[in-house]
Amino acid sequence: MNIVLLGAPGSGKGTQASMISERYGLVHISTGDIFRENIKNGTEIGLLAKSYIDAGKLVPDEVTCEIVRQRLAKDDCKKGYLLDGFPRNTYQADQLDGFSKVDLCININIDHALLMNRLCGRRVCRDCGESYHVDTLNGATTCKKCGGELYQRRDDNPETVASRLAVYNEQTAPLIDYYTKKGVIFHCTGTEAPASVLFATVAAELDKYLK
Ligand code: AMP
Repeated sequence: MNIVLLGAPGSGKGTQASMISERYGLVHISTGDIFRENIKNGTEIGLLAKSYIDAGKLVPDEVTCEIVRQRLAKDDCKKGYLLDGFPRNTYQADQLDGFSKVDLCININIDHALLMNRLCGRRVCRDCGESYHVDTLNGATTCKKCGGELYQRRDDNPETVASRLAVYNEQTAPLIDYYTKKGVIFHCTGTEAPASVLFATVAAELDKYLK
């Protein structure tokens, strides 16, 4: 089964994606993670992506679509994949339609008033990618899951977050309509409750297809 996860930055897509991929054995593909890995390794793609990411803008479509096309062609995606952060506009969604078939789009709705604080207070594990919020860390600087170092993403600052949210509203939110028209959308609500609460709702839906 091929799944697209939709939701504003900070809605909890990444956390849900990890939980879904663990339970159902789908490959988790995060374009943001691919770009961050490329930046870390100093590749050409990383160099190009960095300026866009730091400004809270989208990396050009041609580059992003080609990365995803190549990734989805790999053998491990044959059983199904979970796209987290792609597509982010209708052009990318049309391109994706051209090289793959999306079976389900999970749309995580969230009160946007929560997002600035969520993102600016977010700390991420360098090793396993687990996310935390400073308000619940009690000063801890290492990951509870794997002991890795926690860091703050460069784009989790107020100016860049404002730009990312504007990009989401202008370019990504129209995809809710896009996948509604295709008849493949499932809506759920991201809240301040533990991620496991939202996951229970998502899993109840996925069990219909993947049990
Ligand atoms: P994320 O980790 O999904 O929040 O993505 C971080 C940043 O990577 C975004 O703000 C964009 O600059 C870039 N990015 C991730 N996915 C895409 C995409 N599908 N298209 C263009 N840029 C992307």
